[in-house]
Amino acid sequence: MLNIVIFGAPGSGKGTQSERIIEKYGLHHISTGDVLRAEIKSNTALGRTAKEYIERGQLIPDTLMVEILADVLDKLTESNGVIFDGFPRTIAQAEALKEMLDKRGQYITLMLDLDVPEEELMKRLIKRGQESGRADDNEETIRKRLDVYHTQTAPLKDWYKEEGKYAYIQGLGDLQRITDQIVSAIEERK
Ligand code: AMP
Repeated sequence: MLNIVIFGAPGSGKGTQSERIIEKYGLHHISTGDVLRAEIKSNTALGRTAKEYIERGQLIPDTLMVEILADVLDKLTESNGVIFDGFPRTIAQAEALKEMLDKRGQYITLMLDLDVPEEELMKRLIKRGQESGRADDNEETIRKRLDVYHTQTAPLKDWYKEEGKYAYIQGLGDLQRITDQIVSAIEERK
């Protein structure tokens, strides 16, 4: 089993790089942002709650988020493992994930930290907002999301370092070169 956390600020390329490696390793891709956006689209009760947080650039509360993830994990079919994209975003979520996997006799193989300079993140997110019309890709919400990333999510780097799972990935530049770094990190640990 290969369970990977793909980590990084909004706009760091987590989704793009996930797509490039799921096929190679036969993994499920769980993007909690995608799960929430699907709920919003279907106008479920969960979607309506999530929408309020997402539009403010805030995180969905941990207890709710952990429930959502447990539900997704329970419905997974057989695979070689999972790539977690956008989860965990807080230390409480990382601890809950560890426990959930432990109950299934599994663990996180490694955490890939996609590092991209702040200026570049802003540029990419503004461009994505213009192209995709994602409601939270406007300048004010982007600033809030980056702030939330620095205060609530970035501390997870140290948490995963202490777990011995951390891998640094230079997330700027040629897409294939970034994928190559990811593949080397996976090959070293798997
Ligand atoms: P993303 O597509 O991963 O950038 O997520 C978009 C938004 O969904 C975030 O800004 C949060 O409001 C919410 N979200 C996604 N994943 C999580 C999570 N693990 N914990 C809390 N909120 C989340």
